[in-house]
Amino acid sequence: MVPLRVLIVEDEASLARQLAASVTEAGYATDCAGDGRQADFLVHSEVYDVIVLDLGLPGVDGLTLLRQWRAAGIATPVLILTARGSWHEKVQGIDGGADDYVAKPFRIEEVLARIRALIRRARGVAQPELRCGPVVLDPSAARVTVDGSLVKLTSHEYRVLSYLMHHRTRVVSRTELTEHIYAQDFDRDSNTVEVFIARLRRKLGAPLIETVRGLGYRMAEPAEQG
Ligand code: CA
Repeated sequence: MVPLRVLIVEDEASLARQLAASVTEAGYATDCAGDGRQADFLVHSEVYDVIVLDLGLPGVDGLTLLRQWRAAGIATPVLILTARGSWHEKVQGIDGGADDYVAKPFRIEEVLARIRALIRRARGVAQPELRCGPVVLDPSAARVTVDGSLVKLTSHEYRVLSYLMHHRTRVVSRTELTEHIYAQDFDRDSNTVEVFIARLRRKLGAPLIETVRGLGYRMAEPAEQG
């Protein structure tokens, strides 16, 4: 069985450590992000079953992140951590796409129970697949099919395609793709994005990834594919 993955987004280091230890002990594969930028990178490059998101983050705040993820079609259950007694945070959070909340200070047991509940609720309800013409990308299984046939992609090719499909309404620059497809310590080279795009076009066998000269790439609109 594939272990369930939980992402913890919390900037208070001691609380993050405590949460990560308990969540790991409860049997989940756990990643941590200490700020919004790192969280955004992980959410776009990895597949999680639950995200525990502190709303009070330095830089990009949790609510903004959550809204961006939901707008990008990321449907992962999100449990928000709100400030004590802040009812408006709860309301904004739920309206912004959160599935549940826990107010600080909390007992770890309550967070774990809510994670279990979110996973139960999500089970049996497949994550929505992303479609572009004949291409279907299933984020929960990290798999891509074209006209129903499985296409084998490397992890980087998958990330490029996944990122483009999550942002299909706009043009994505090479720099942005480079920032989102590599692990943080990876030697980044934006020229290799072109190589991934070329391979993807070959493997998908359809003109679905458009080059927008000077700007970047965009998924073609299904209507334009005839
Ligand atoms: Ca915080």
